[in-house]
Amino acid sequence: MDWEIVIGLEVHVQLNTLSKAFCSCKTTYGAPPNTQTCPVCLGYPGALPVLNRELVTSAVKAGLATHCKIRKRSGFARKNYFYPDLPKGYQISQYDDPICYDGYIEVPTESGNKKIGLIRIHMEEDAGKSMHGMDGTLIDLNRCGIPLLEIVSRPDIRSPQEAYSYLTTLKQLIRYIGISDCNMEEGSLRCDANLSVMPRGSNKFGTRTELKNMNSFRGVEKALTYEAKRQIEVLESGGTVVQETLLWNEQSQTAEPMRSKEESHDYRYFPEPDLVDVQLTDTMIDDIKKSMPELPGERLQRFIRQYKLSEEDGLVLTSERDIADYFEEAVHDFPDTALMNHWVRGEILRILKEKQLPIDQSPISPGRLKELLTYLIQKKITPQTAKTVLDAMAETGETAGKIIEKKGLMSISSLDELDSLIRDILQKHPAELEKYRQGKTQLFGFFMGQVMKATKGRADQKVTRQILDKYLNT
Ligand SMILES: [Zn+2]
Repeated sequence: MDWEIVIGLEVHVQLNTLSKAFCSCKTTYGAPPNTQTCPVCLGYPGALPVLNRELVTSAVKAGLATHCKIRKRSGFARKNYFYPDLPKGYQISQYDDPICYDGYIEVPTESGNKKIGLIRIHMEEDAGKSMHGMDGTLIDLNRCGIPLLEIVSRPDIRSPQEAYSYLTTLKQLIRYIGISDCNMEEGSLRCDANLSVMPRGSNKFGTRTELKNMNSFRGVEKALTYEAKRQIEVLESGGTVVQETLLWNEQSQTAEPMRSKEESHDYRYFPEPDLVDVQLTDTMIDDIKKSMPELPGERLQRFIRQYKLSEEDGLVLTSERDIADYFEEAVHDFPDTALMNHWVRGEILRILKEKQLPIDQSPISPGRLKELLTYLIQKKITPQTAKTVLDAMAETGETAGKIIEKKGLMSISSLDELDSLIRDILQKHPAELEKYRQGKTQLFGFFMGQVMKATKGRADQKVTRQILDKYLNT
């Protein structure tokens, strides 16, 4: 039987606001345990929450970037459950009136771009963290009350690869609008997945299971692949899929049952009595819209148009906002966009990868790259030398001009100088010269190589070629 996989994803994004969702505690990652807490986020009786405006702004930004409708009036609700890292005994969340709803994102798939629907984006607060160690379990409540967005997709995803692509696109969007770093290792992006299978062509979804505890996008893809296979095997052997929550085990690459899935009525949601509804006006939404940067899709199209880039080049250069910003700063007032694309895409990204640095910490600034490439287009240095200079710039932090001067790297294009150098080389290699004259013309490359070796790559290629041609072919 041919099966169709149906996947929906719930993504939690930790926002990078300076203070928490409902109190003024700091949100710095990695602070000593329990140093960023107060009566509000510790759930002391009588302590009252105050809404952080930035949480609302970030939620609206996320909604606008994902074609969601923005609800002008939305409220908070208490989601009640007990857990040691939740001192209040409930989480402040949103229930039936999420701030953003009914959107979509466009995701690249093997068969072109596909729209994956979003049911909702809502605001909520994070719980604390239990740390299970050798001496028992310790609680860090620094994370209590850190603002989150929960982004819930429609069950529109049809394969683990599409899920991977959805997550990558969503992360890129969120990073572009600057509301989170989406660092999965530090827990600022977490993903749960729902998966079911049904006979292909059916319109009745099968029983779904929920997968938790996946620590990377590849982990999500693997867990979904595993779970789809498991459900198909259960159904093909005549069994039924049980609705339950499974924990992905990265080490054994298997999913283990955690508990039977709770329903939303188990949480006894009710309106949060300590907070008034959030009310937005058109002006507020417009102001937020105006403050948003160009989104990756639009920027890609503009890059292709404005800088005459291939789609492939454009995708690399707009993959992150900081890379796109770097390129635009470097190419501003620079005459050769193709050359700049070549160097940013190739050399700068290579150096950053080697040094494991993000581009905003690049040892070579856009201005300095521009200076180096100006020497190149003015033919003051050869392409070969330019690479050497770039590497030296990355190591020493010095400017191209300084390195070229200090190491004497200006290109040699003087006819006289190269002419005597080449005559010298020909004299030193009589055997090769003889063979060349007998018809082994591929030795031209050998002589070019000797000239480059003697000049440490500084000989102007075109002039060298002309002189060699004169002596070898006439
Ligand atoms: Zn607090």
